[in-house]
Amino acid sequence: MPDDQAETAIIVGARAESSSPATEAAEQENRTTLDPQDWSDIRRLGHRMLDTMIDHLAHRDEASLWRAAPPDIRATMQAPLPTRPTAPDAVFDQFRDTILPYDGGNTHPGFMGWVQGAGTSVGMLAEMLAGGLNANLGGRDHMPIAVEQQVAAWMRDVFSYPDTAGGQFLTGASQASFVALLIARVRACGEAVRREGSTAFPGLIAYTSEEVHGCIPRALEMAGLGTDALRRIAVDSAGRMRADALEAQIARDRADGLTPFLLIGTAGTVQCGAIDDLSALADIAARYGMHFHVDGALGALGMFSDMIAPKLAGIERSDSIAFDFHKWGHVPYDAGFLLVRDQAWQHATFAADARYLSRAETGLAGGDWWPCDTGPDLSRGFRALKTWFTLKTYGLRALGEAMAANCRLAQILAERVEAHRDLVLLAPVPLNIVCFGYAPDGRSGDGAVNRRIVEQLHHAGQVAPSLTMIDGRPAIRAAFVNHRSTLRDVERLIDGVVRFGAAETGK
Ligand SMILES: *Cc1c(COP(=O)(O)O)cnc(C)c1O
Repeated sequence: MPDDQAETAIIVGARAESSSPATEAAEQENRTTLDPQDWSDIRRLGHRMLDTMIDHLAHRDEASLWRAAPPDIRATMQAPLPTRPTAPDAVFDQFRDTILPYDGGNTHPGFMGWVQGAGTSVGMLAEMLAGGLNANLGGRDHMPIAVEQQVAAWMRDVFSYPDTAGGQFLTGASQASFVALLIARVRACGEAVRREGSTAFPGLIAYTSEEVHGCIPRALEMAGLGTDALRRIAVDSAGRMRADALEAQIARDRADGLTPFLLIGTAGTVQCGAIDDLSALADIAARYGMHFHVDGALGALGMFSDMIAPKLAGIERSDSIAFDFHKWGHVPYDAGFLLVRDQAWQHATFAADARYLSRAETGLAGGDWWPCDTGPDLSRGFRALKTWFTLKTYGLRALGEAMAANCRLAQILAERVEAHRDLVLLAPVPLNIVCFGYAPDGRSGDGAVNRRIVEQLHHAGQVAPSLTMIDGRPAIRAAFVNHRSTLRDVERLIDGVVRFGAAETGK
């Protein structure tokens, strides 16, 4: 027996002698850990999982983009409540066979539906690290908080925000814009609104464009202001909010004794990727003392690209920006972010005394930033880690180049649509989104054929655009937010649309 083992044996023996059989029994009964009895089992399983997922990503384009899960597969998700344990290997086998092949397809190069990020291998691995740490980023003094502060500091630099700025992760831009609205309300009404509620401050009005994303009216609903307090300003032919119409509406509202308090610009509209004239909006917000928020869910990270950044001029003058690392940043879901010009506004909106959260000068309960003071969540996951990993590993330039490549693909698609006698372009293409339709010999009809074409493309499993409505008619929408997409995918899209369109119309 080697010496160190002999020593262990003696210590164990000594412990056994000193504790009574009753103590031993009690200790046994209270040992209810969920850790494995044999760590080598879990190590083996972990390696299996990694191999499976790396193979999955490496060969993603060889599998179908999407297929409907057959009934027997769906039935596996109607099992009774698992009161008894299952071997982890068996649970993983079920994942591999019933979940993995039937995902939403957004890691596939042909995915161009809605506005979804494609994820990365590095982001996936960072998720595993974050899961192992199981860090809670509500507050306290630990390095995970410093990682989130690092990402916030980087974003401050990206958007040329001042040192006073604060930023933090939220689920997505929907939540970030809702939080921004709450901050704007406290700026307009003072902290009293937290006690007295919105009804004590009637007449608050928010402004945005008619191309607004649905999360903004929802934010007004959730805040108790109601959507009647939201003015949707007309857009120009390129989908940007009209400054003259905005000022005219503000003048009418002020004449009616109402209080404009919030202007929401959009950096990349969900319909066609239009970017509002953010400088003009910043001027107007300053003139009327409104909080200027930018919904940059789709486009704000375009700051990483030399080609896109100039289109975002004026964003640095905003008071807050909501954006999504999980879209064009390709960080795995979810990783929304809110950047706020002055962290004091966040404190005024969210900080509260809670006895069970008392702070210390030093020790684990220390720390100079508790995100629970600056946002709505107390328990928070480590979204910062996968983002920090992604930004560091690829670097801003490569991420920006992938965005620029997406915009080039959109231009190519738009050109080919315009050159094709059976296709028609239905909206301007200022960024990365192309809306078009099948129109044999230039006749676009009621657009219903586009709905069927998109469905058939999804079932064919090679490319997946989504459907939108333009002037009340269904249109095909291809949003390039995917670093894996190439010209081949554009060609597959056109071929598929023309083939299914011809079959549908008997052309
Ligand atoms: C996606 C999107 C949102 C919502 O962001 P989530 O991360 O899904 O909450 C808001 N605005 C625009 C323009 C978007 O594209």
